[in-house]
Amino acid sequence: MTHSVEVLGDRAETNYITALPTTLLASVASTADWIVVVDHDNAPLGAMPRACLTPDATSQTALEALRPAPATVVADISIPLDALLDSTAFRITAPDAVIAVKDTSIVGLWGGEDLAEEVMHHTSRIGQDWLPTGEKIHIPQVVRICQYTAGDLTCTGSLSFHERPTYMPQCPDPGHLGNHDFGW
Ligand SMILES: [Zn+2]
Repeated sequence: MTHSVEVLGDRAETNYITALPTTLLASVASTADWIVVVDHDNAPLGAMPRACLTPDATSQTALEALRPAPATVVADISIPLDALLDSTAFRITAPDAVIAVKDTSIVGLWGGEDLAEEVMHHTSRIGQDWLPTGEKIHIPQVVRICQYTAGDLTCTGSLSFHERPTYMPQCPDPGHLGNHDFGW
């Protein structure tokens, strides 16, 4: 009996819609379980379960609603579940959802109870990023939104990391709030 390795693509679902950071959530008419916030290049910035949105959230933009939970894990759809759950990005984030990508396109989302159960039953084997022999697996990334604020302005910068850097890089500062280190 052969045992094939289960990969992210086996679990990822498509019960999400995408929204731009500036999209007002009130204008998102959908019954999808998840909202994936993407930038103008369609790169994922984060995911939030629709059920968690407060009544207030409908007056917010997608980025404002995402901000309190500013980290999401993005991983290649072909990554084995064990490698994903053992990855540094996953362990330091403990995300509600993992966004599955193929090349640079979002192709699915794995979250909710199915992910939570897998995490509960997962036994970490090595506790570090690993690459199965002979397979090209991209190391999962943490995508974070900068937490820097200046007055009542909040930074909308985002960066991807494999792990938490010892020294924070400079924020891309798309809102021109002034030079600052990335707010983890
Ligand atoms: Zn920033």
